[in-house]
Amino acid sequence: MVRVRFAPSPTGNLHIGSARTALFNWLYARAQAGKFILRIEDTDKKRSSDVYLKEILSSLEWLGLNWDEGPYFQSKRQDIYLSYADKLLKQDLAYKDGEAIIFKIPNEKIKIYDLIHGEIEVDNSLIGELVLIKSDKTPAYNFACVIDDIDMNISHIIRGDDHISNTNKQLALYNALDVKPPKFAHIPLILAPDKSRLSKRFGAVAISEYREKGYLSEAMVNYLALLGWAPGDNKEFMETTYIIKKFSLKRVNKRGAEFNEDKLRWLNGEHIRKMSLDSFVKEVKPFVKGEYDAQWFKKIAELYHPRVKTLLEFKDEVDIFLLDDVVYREEAVEKFLKKDGVLGILKLAKECLSKIDEFTPANIETSMRALLKELNIKGGDLIHPLRVAVTGKSVSAGIFEVLALLGKDKTLKRLESLFKAKP
Ligand code: GLU
Repeated sequence: MVRVRFAPSPTGNLHIGSARTALFNWLYARAQAGKFILRIEDTDKKRSSDVYLKEILSSLEWLGLNWDEGPYFQSKRQDIYLSYADKLLKQDLAYKDGEAIIFKIPNEKIKIYDLIHGEIEVDNSLIGELVLIKSDKTPAYNFACVIDDIDMNISHIIRGDDHISNTNKQLALYNALDVKPPKFAHIPLILAPDKSRLSKRFGAVAISEYREKGYLSEAMVNYLALLGWAPGDNKEFMETTYIIKKFSLKRVNKRGAEFNEDKLRWLNGEHIRKMSLDSFVKEVKPFVKGEYDAQWFKKIAELYHPRVKTLLEFKDEVDIFLLDDVVYREEAVEKFLKKDGVLGILKLAKECLSKIDEFTPANIETSMRALLKELNIKGGDLIHPLRVAVTGKSVSAGIFEVLALLGKDKTLKRLESLFKAKP
């Protein structure tokens, strides 16, 4: 039975790289009908914190990466590590230095059989020694990790490339303990678009920040899955069930994967489009504050559901309807409201709008088209200034729909205050 684990240290948030590692483990477990185990590597008391732990757990939950066992905490498994260390002491494979226990790494070449990279040979004679238990009696990472992977019956270790330099040390421990090691799969690092390591500027931010920016968890999973893996059928938009069906370690790339937020945004938009209007309303609600009529809100959601790429983008659009005052974008004002004659046209438009009884998109359109004809001007000469005047922006959903949803009162009031302000 396949048993994999995700073993984060709570010394930082769950970011793109660690979330991708968690996802590949989870996908492999689900694809193979195996078990996904969560282990918290919190032996470094000084650097571990509960805040990070909570963040990691809630991000995993948000992504839907449910675990079948755990979380196990290394800080609560001290006795197990000590008993294994004792075994190595008794066999004279390790020695004591004060309270610390040190392992003598045999001078030999070690072969790592990696499911992604193939065979990797490392010369262990250059290493010398490995601390198992530190002088404060806590276990060192390489030791606790091996003991837990043995004790938890882990079949496959899927983790980042950066751990290859630990794997040869860990293999020496498996040999000393006379245990057959699990299979290894080292997945490629994720790089920034300029091929450098991920940084605060590019991608190394917490998954929770993407959530706050209005990304959907399914889109995040879809995007993370493509960082170093592809289904082989050129598909990019994928639902999680499809990814599980297609996932295999064989198709994981050796080379680094590139983080690209534009692609994430695009995928997010696709996932937004795929969801029902009701689900969309449910997802965007937490982003929008204030009291409003549910029917009215749903209409706005319907208008923007086909257009936005993130939930936060939707929030910005809804602000047009919810805020009392228009926030005017300078470029929009410069471009569309400063032209000669524009205010005159808008004044006439206001007069026409005020005469409409039923303020529906169709009635607004009829009225505005009549005005265009009367003035013998092009659509854009009225539509663009009107949009900026009422929304503050040069782009929006269809202007007639926007005006109708805004309502007659608000529309006229906005035009009135604009005339007073004399842009
Ligand atoms: N705690 C280690 C890390 O966060 C786990 C490495 C491993 O998967 O063995 O990188």
